[in-house]
Amino acid sequence: MTSDEHARVSRYDLGRDELAVLLSDQPPYRVSQVFDGFYRRLAEPGDLTELPRALRGRLEQAPGLAPAFSCVAESVADRGSTVKWLLETSDAKRIETVLMRYRDRATVCVSSQAGCAMGCTFCATGDAGFGRQLSSGEIVEQVVIAARHCRSEGWGELGNVVLMGMGEPMANFRSVWAAVETMNRDLSLAARHITISTVGVVPGIRQLAGKTLQVNLAVSLHAANDSLRDQLVPLNRRYPLATVMKACEEYRAATGRRISFEWACIAEVNDRPSDAFELASLARPLGAHVNLIPLNPTAGGLSRGLRGSDISRVSDFRAWLGQACVNATIRQNRGRSIDAACGQLAARVELTPRNELTARDELATRGQLIASRRRLN
Ligand code: SAH
Ligand code: SF4
Repeated sequence: MTSDEHARVSRYDLGRDELAVLLSDQPPYRVSQVFDGFYRRLAEPGDLTELPRALRGRLEQAPGLAPAFSCVAESVADRGSTVKWLLETSDAKRIETVLMRYRDRATVCVSSQAGCAMGCTFCATGDAGFGRQLSSGEIVEQVVIAARHCRSEGWGELGNVVLMGMGEPMANFRSVWAAVETMNRDLSLAARHITISTVGVVPGIRQLAGKTLQVNLAVSLHAANDSLRDQLVPLNRRYPLATVMKACEEYRAATGRRISFEWACIAEVNDRPSDAFELASLARPLGAHVNLIPLNPTAGGLSRGLRGSDISRVSDFRAWLGQACVNATIRQNRGRSIDAACGQLAARVELTPRNELTARDELATRGQLIASRRRLN
């Protein structure tokens, strides 16, 4: 382990076995109490009042058990049903996590990297560049923050996790997969309620095909021919469409699971009837489902002349796909007013008096992850 990796070990990088090592001087039932406290009750060490005070103090001080993040800002939109957290790691990297409450479920969109190296031309994360990989504990802790919020707001249990925040999950496969296993085993999230989204990192799709935990795979396509995709998604030059489609076929054959294709509708770029029929020719043989997202505005996208299709055009596009026997849904646009929608995550915050951290905020919330609150509507 390098010192850099060592610095990143945080509470949810430790599973039951590592906790047992840390607490080797304690009776085994204490290990279970601490483990249940972290993974079932989603509690802070200080809240584990069933433990002797001295042990609680020790847990609070243990460097390996520190929370991964401090919360720089919490933004709320869609009448409270979309929440975005701007989180900062101990080495000052900033990431974002978005929780969305729907009528029958809550879904959290988590980041897998600080930034992203893929440079897609319409994505704010891509424009920001790459920071570093997140550890599995850092990925899990985002889920814990969201699950805690669901409980404290009376929304019930968190239902779904999508790895569609900042970063390319398949470029951080080891940590992402360790996080998926922890979510499934220790946080009791069903694999079929976890979705990994990739821009088309073929080795990652192949690795996923070999796993027994059957999580969902979403492939961000956006173009169904190489000349357009080369422009929108630079990774297409490394893994062109035919290679991505072959990996999708292998995934489908190995797992029997349906793939989703993500398609950000960009006016006059990929929203014409010919684009729909070209997309259908890729989706139909795979039985893939298509998610249509009207392109969300980003500074980089706008500077390159990319703007979202009108919603009526997106509906037409869906109908054209239907004519070609391909099912598609239009993804609800959530969190645009707080830059929390797909592709808008850039982990920037303008410090205004309303969301600046004050000493009082910090005192009031010491030991908690949510240190500041900013209501936008
Ligand atoms: N890197 C992964 C996952 C994170 S991006 C991927 O690309 O799949 C999550 C989703 O948001 C992807 O489907 C991505 O294509 C989409 N996206 C990025 N920028 C967008 C934008 N400006 N508007 C709408 N969707 C966008
Ligand atoms: Fe990275 Fe996904 Fe954004 Fe492309 S769309 S830059 S892969 S986060």
